[in-house]
Amino acid sequence: MQAILALVGRPNVGKSTLFNRLTRSRDALVADLPGLTRDRKYGLGRLGERDYLVVDTGGLGEESDEIDTLMGEQTRAAMREATHLLLLIDGRAGVTAGDEMLATELRAMGKPVYLVVNKIDATTPATAMAEAYRLGLGEPLPISAVRGSGLDRLIDTVLPDGKDGGDETEAVESDDTVVEESAVLPAHAGLRIAFVGRPNVGKSTLINRLLGENRVVVFDRPGTTRDSIDVPFERDGRRYVLVDTAGIRRRARVNEMIEKFSIVKALDAINAADVVILVLDARAGVTEQDAHLIGLALDAGAPLVVAINKWDGLAEDERNAVRRTLDLRLTFLDFAERHFISALHGTGVGHLLAAARRAHESSHRQVSTAELNRLLEGFVNAHQPPLSRGRRIKLRYAHLGGHRPFTIVIHGNQTDRLPGEYKRYLANGYRRALKLVGTPVALEFKTGD
Ligand code: GDP
Ligand code: GDP
Repeated sequence: MQAILALVGRPNVGKSTLFNRLTRSRDALVADLPGLTRDRKYGLGRLGERDYLVVDTGGLGEESDEIDTLMGEQTRAAMREATHLLLLIDGRAGVTAGDEMLATELRAMGKPVYLVVNKIDATTPATAMAEAYRLGLGEPLPISAVRGSGLDRLIDTVLPDGKDGGDETEAVESDDTVVEESAVLPAHAGLRIAFVGRPNVGKSTLINRLLGENRVVVFDRPGTTRDSIDVPFERDGRRYVLVDTAGIRRRARVNEMIEKFSIVKALDAINAADVVILVLDARAGVTEQDAHLIGLALDAGAPLVVAINKWDGLAEDERNAVRRTLDLRLTFLDFAERHFISALHGTGVGHLLAAARRAHESSHRQVSTAELNRLLEGFVNAHQPPLSRGRRIKLRYAHLGGHRPFTIVIHGNQTDRLPGEYKRYLANGYRRALKLVGTPVALEFKTGD
């Protein structure tokens, strides 16, 4: 099961600072995305072998010790979804009445609660810890979110066994540059494609359109945590499983608005899918909810196809406006194919399955170490890495690191000093040279000094 860590605390205790810290390692790819990270509250993190989802319940604004102000409906919903609750307090401010109220609420949830004392860099640790004990949440965990200290111990304590969230990446070496598509298609029921998007963008309409007369078995999987509908079907001799995450919404219709759209369930569908088809509504542009989903898909490293739906009935100037908006807001998705479609009329829908196969094939591409090194040499010769502390940053060799996302590991010296711009240059270079589509290319650097 995916570990979900909810960060709870009064305003200004450092929740978003900690959130950024906990999600950064995995986020290298997403970190520079304009407009995305600012308002995102969900992020994937990884420390060592441990994957976890972090939810920042912040954004509540006012300084207050009123419980209703401290804990809005958003926070409660996040806490219900979480597997671990982290109460963050400001070690400099001492324990306040607000902290005490939050501690009581959290204890009542019946889930593991951890007390995290932040800003330990700006206080006398012993005093802050002694006071924190008073909250009765066990041994407080001292950290400095700004400095990044205490985080390893924090994660070790919260996720001790390291078995939360599997990580199937492994070093792969092969002499075949390109493997036949059939060889990488999953042997099970078929290529698993999750249709992800906000409510009403047209996911169900799209799935029904794809199925057409081929609609075969539609079976529901009640009782599973993955509250979505699997629709297996075959087209041109190839098997697929279409995952309709719209089922999530229908089942929750009776509940509150806030729970109709569950980020965690969308994440489940994304993680379980071979490929994600992200469905946007051309008439609505890219909304905040869209941005959240895109962020999750990117964090998960999922192969991706973007379908811009409801393209019918738009005048040419409206279409141009939509194209411009997408160019502006989806620059970080430039690796993904974009298809303008009408699920209602079927226009463009026929290309989606092939696009999904291409994305899946790219993400599973086997590239030999020799090929990756030859390319690296070319990139470095064309454009040397900068100097750092008077010495040239050296990139020595590269190998494949994993497939979700497609990861290339590069070894060298002072690689931690490599500017983001240069990393992007390398990632783009590899993407172009290897003709990868639909998959983000992640680089992992190892440094010898
Ligand atoms: P949030 O409202 O709980 O999300 O808090 P923020 O993450 O926005 O942090 C509030 C303020 O505390 C900011 O000015 C941070 O720079 C500061 N802050 C966060 N973590 C630390 C820390 O570990 N040490 C110190 N000294 N300041 C911190
Ligand atoms: P879901 O919640 O994402 O599954 O969305 P639905 O498939 O239920 O569609 C929501 C609404 O959008 C319905 O009224 C559909 O008829 C409409 N819709 C779906 N696709 C299209 C399209 O391509 N063009 C137009 N004009 N309307 C569409």
